[in-house]
Amino acid sequence: MPLHFNILTLFPNMFPGCLGASLAGKALERGDWSFSCTNIRDFGEGVHKCVDDTPYGGGAGMVMRADVLEKALLSTNDSGSRRIYLSPRGQQLKQPLVKELAASPSLTLLCGRYEGVDERFLQAHEFEEISIGDYVLSGGEPAALILMDACIRLLDGVMGNVNTADNESFGSGANGLLEYPHYTRPAVWTDANGSEHGVPEVLTSGNHAKIDEWRAEQSKIITKVRRPDLL
Ligand code: SAM
Repeated sequence: MPLHFNILTLFPNMFPGCLGASLAGKALERGDWSFSCTNIRDFGEGVHKCVDDTPYGGGAGMVMRADVLEKALLSTNDSGSRRIYLSPRGQQLKQPLVKELAASPSLTLLCGRYEGVDERFLQAHEFEEISIGDYVLSGGEPAALILMDACIRLLDGVMGNVNTADNESFGSGANGLLEYPHYTRPAVWTDANGSEHGVPEVLTSGNHAKIDEWRAEQSKIITKVRRPDLL
């Protein structure tokens, strides 16, 4: 079943953005996924279509208004959709969560701007918060695109080899570890300084059991050095 993204944003022209190209773009053309954008500005107040106001309690920046956001949300048909607010305060997006999201029929993605959105709106409409990492972006749109990309590549038929995702970093085939290193032709590569670099012998041995063993070992070593928290 195709996955639909119901996007609430002040910048609809940011979509599909990079997802209109390559594998995701082809999948979009095939109808493996679809998206619709609702411009929150269309539901703004007054002649200036104002969507934000100053925060109660003072402080810097502006906050997106609950009444405006509610009108934008209710103008969409999001029944059965999981509601997500992209937010640095949210649960971090990790591969098991991506897998879960990719299996949903529809995701409503709220892209914040300014200082964020009125908390009452998030609670009244049961938005869960998802963060793409411990840093602050200027808006939720790039975060939404990242979440979408991670989901789209897991949809049936999007990647050439269906086993690929499970064998990648964080995948179940890789026991949740980081991926082993890759090599391709030429077998000996001479870099710009004249140094020659070969490939690990086992990879050209044709012994697939040994290759699997070597890759599993490399995967453990890389994970231990770079991300011991995953072990
Ligand atoms: N004042 C907020 C805070 O300190 O948590 C940051 C607001 S940020 C400037 C504007 C918007 O960008 C947020 O409402 C959110 O939608 C999005 N955003 C920023 N960083 C993000 C992250 N790491 N993950 C997901 N969305 C993010």
